[in-house]
Amino acid sequence: METIFWGDRTSAIDPETLGDVTAETVLMQEPYKTLQERLGFKACVMMHQVHGTNGYCIKPSTDLSQLLLRSQEADFLVTDCKQVALAVLTADCLPIVFIDKKKQVIAIAHAGWKGTVNKIAQKTVMAMSDQFGSELSNIKVFFGPSALVCCYEVQQPFSLALAQDPFAQKSLIERNHKIYFDVTYYNQLTLQAMGISPEVFNFQAQRCTICTPGYCSYRGQNGTQLRNITSVSLK
Ligand SMILES: [Zn+2]
Repeated sequence: METIFWGDRTSAIDPETLGDVTAETVLMQEPYKTLQERLGFKACVMMHQVHGTNGYCIKPSTDLSQLLLRSQEADFLVTDCKQVALAVLTADCLPIVFIDKKKQVIAIAHAGWKGTVNKIAQKTVMAMSDQFGSELSNIKVFFGPSALVCCYEVQQPFSLALAQDPFAQKSLIERNHKIYFDVTYYNQLTLQAMGISPEVFNFQAQRCTICTPGYCSYRGQNGTQLRNITSVSLK
């Protein structure tokens, strides 16, 4: 069974305070401790997020007691290990959770605009398929709290830079002489382009971090260090 945890300000994390923790020792710190007690996982893996499109796979052979969370750069994680929570930290960027119930494979991605337009969602699905044998038709996709199109304003150089990008042209919306980016829709379009069915997308956890009270928001809270944690784990 899979459990997704969508964090908000009540479980906010300042990643700068983490230090040299491992996937196992992180569970001695709040709020991972509380999460661990609630969800029952034995390790929590999150990487040093760099707005890239590289990922990290956790397999039964991975030594979680040695895996330093802040030293490995990655923006998506995939595993088929039970009781290992995969987590991303965001404040306006989009957390995306992927679940293949049939093969019992889970993944999570940190998708800001940069990772999004560089197709991190597709790369996550490819890792599930190449490394763990997931079939595209069995993957479900859950979008979490992020800056939504109501508030995610972008400047003209951004939209001009993406003038040749067909997904961007469908995800940029003009309103009152301003341009807004629908980051969720862009990710959805890239996944559909690789053959993921439009019916598998779940938007229930989507809230706009900028205009919904209770979420950490980089734009809405003056460049805050605090992050919402999203995690997914297998029992
Ligand atoms: Zn909003």
